[in-house]
Amino acid sequence: MSFVYGPVPSRRLGLSLGINIIPAKTCTLDCVYCQCGLTTRKTATRESFFPVADILTAVRNSQPATRNSPLAFLTFSGDGEPTLNKDIGRIIRGLKREFSIPVAVITNSTLISDPQVRRDIMPADLVVPSLDAADQRTFARVDRCHRSIKVEDIIEGLKLFRRSYRGKMWLEIMLVKGINDSVEHVVALRKAVHQIQPDRVQLNTVVRPPAEKFARPMSHDDLVQIQYLFGPNTDIAAQGKSQITNHKSQIRGNADELILATVHGRPVTRQDLADALGVAPRALTAALRGLVRAKRIKPVDYSGKTFYEPA
Ligand code: SF4
Repeated sequence: MSFVYGPVPSRRLGLSLGINIIPAKTCTLDCVYCQCGLTTRKTATRESFFPVADILTAVRNSQPATRNSPLAFLTFSGDGEPTLNKDIGRIIRGLKREFSIPVAVITNSTLISDPQVRRDIMPADLVVPSLDAADQRTFARVDRCHRSIKVEDIIEGLKLFRRSYRGKMWLEIMLVKGINDSVEHVVALRKAVHQIQPDRVQLNTVVRPPAEKFARPMSHDDLVQIQYLFGPNTDIAAQGKSQITNHKSQIRGNADELILATVHGRPVTRQDLADALGVAPRALTAALRGLVRAKRIKPVDYSGKTFYEPA
């Protein structure tokens, strides 16, 4: 789990600051669609992984965080579950004290039934929790949860959090073809979402190379039908549309380092990188070629697109 700085607080985009608050692939889940590979440490026990002061110093020293864009978020995102860090509340409060950048937390919601977790993430400006299943059987199939985690507790926790949380809540649902996309299940999900009452719902599917080859994407037409079923305030996040329209032709700073930091831990397309770095895609061509030649990143074809991941 690392910090991402960028205009779009989604699971997919942003410029990674390369600052971890939990060790890589430490998670309560082992989702079949995970873009960061298989979970190496599945746990539901919260810990202090790194000194809070070191994390705040690292953010302070990172170049992008010092830019003060009204669009930008500092986002807890990446390859693991951030609420496993029991210091996350102190980290969020420290960030908010020091930077005038909104803070977003992307969480898999699995610990939200814990009142302390709810208190910890309450100061964030935006929380993007996920809910991929409405019943335990489907939850176990799609997210391969830690044995102690029950989906009904997650739904109750999300309802309680929503009641007292004053920031924005965008609920993300990852749909995997043949696993959690049946009509009955989607209707059950809609019922749960109706009870939770998030500000927005983001429908997503497997658009990047997944942990398991059998995790297949939904078609755009299917997503549109499900969007219609969910009703207003439902977006299809899988399209990954950039909110940046004014792309520059030059990268500010060291292009190789910025690309490597962003590629680290999750496969990204050239367009994703361009969105994250705020440049035109063509501005990245030479740097990407050089990094592939130097065997620092490698191209991977998936679903008709070329992704880059660490070599
Ligand atoms: S997708 Fe997120 S919640 Fe699921 S295994 Fe990967 S890091 Fe954990």
